[in-house]
Amino acid sequence: MTTAALAAERLTHEQKLDRLAEVAVRVGLGLERGQELVMTASLDSLALARRITEHAYRVGASLVTTLFNDDEAALMRYRFAPDESFDRAPAWLYDGMGAAFKSGAARLAIAGANPSLLSNEDPDKVGRANRAVSQAYRPALELITRHEINWTIVASATPAWAAAMFPGDAQDVALAKLWDAIFASSRVDTDDPVAAWKAHDAGLHTRAAYLNEKRYAALQYRGPGTDFRLGLSDDHLWLGGGTTAGNGAYCIPNMPTEEVFTTPHKNRADGTVTATKPLSHQGTMIEGIQVRFEGGRIVEARATKGQEVLQRLIDTDEGARRLGEVALVPHSSPIAASGLLFFNTLFDENAACHIALGQAYSSCLIDGDKLTPEQLAAKGANDSLIHVDWMIGSDKLDIDGITFSGAAEPLMRQGEWV
Ligand code: ZN
Ligand code: ZN
Repeated sequence: MTTAALAAERLTHEQKLDRLAEVAVRVGLGLERGQELVMTASLDSLALARRITEHAYRVGASLVTTLFNDDEAALMRYRFAPDESFDRAPAWLYDGMGAAFKSGAARLAIAGANPSLLSNEDPDKVGRANRAVSQAYRPALELITRHEINWTIVASATPAWAAAMFPGDAQDVALAKLWDAIFASSRVDTDDPVAAWKAHDAGLHTRAAYLNEKRYAALQYRGPGTDFRLGLSDDHLWLGGGTTAGNGAYCIPNMPTEEVFTTPHKNRADGTVTATKPLSHQGTMIEGIQVRFEGGRIVEARATKGQEVLQRLIDTDEGARRLGEVALVPHSSPIAASGLLFFNTLFDENAACHIALGQAYSSCLIDGDKLTPEQLAAKGANDSLIHVDWMIGSDKLDIDGITFSGAAEPLMRQGEWV
């Protein structure tokens, strides 16, 4: 162990929390002097939200506005609200967030939801409520998926999330274990977290540059229950780590992040894919997913648990049956190496190769943010109300890059870069 590691190990929980807030604001968000910040957090993340608020003002934020949500209040809707409640969403709130983004605000989300909050609720109500939110949030979310503003997501440990991950432990023990995992994967227990993030960011950029030079036409996946060929969109661009947003700020949108990712072609996915981890989607769990694609479209979908939720998800709209993202993550990534299953996309997607149903990132196409929706569609970028990542990587997955002439080049073997 180095002296630097020893020094970091002596930090108190409060000091680590403060460092997490600092890297979230300075490195993740790249918040600029005079910028407004719109933050969302659960009441269980109050301590981190306060630390982030302090650091945002310290770097010169003009105004920090935090929207808090509460699990208990969310459940009361399912217990007591009339049926028509589940087709409603606060459009005025999402319109307001969109207006804030347009006038220059940055966006930070604190993740930490109870992964099975809604598991016992009526899937029809859950599906309708999610759809209503997706529709209402879409205009504001587009500013984020087009990278017009700087944004990031960081995680806070919460009692319900920790209990889901460590069911055998007492609450305080589980919470401490989850915080340790968050601090480690967010690089705040290194001697200089900002320098550690810069080095990591450079590594992801190098990987993306290599793939952009290769310009593969498709990827071929082989593993247990998976035999799948995925065409990449025309003019696709691999991204990883940070990007300069349309407003000029440099941000790293997820903390942690270990992925390089691009836009697949919405009409070019064929074969069978089996998920390697359960998917926690908006408070419900979907396990044992296996789907078959034909011409880019899911034609068969099964799940050993949560089949109904999966079915409703892919029935959201036509684009929900097609892919909007493909991401490569080595099995030796620090999050995968922890061996933990987080039931949270921010972490689990950074521990395994994944694909996402639904909306594509136009920033993953050359000059994508200048293209009209019709031009994006012509290049193969998918369009949907949803964007749901699910994990297909493991130490048994092999991936080949397929060149335009049809030759196969080994890209990953047993989950690791060749
Ligand atoms: Zn991803
Ligand atoms: Zn994604």
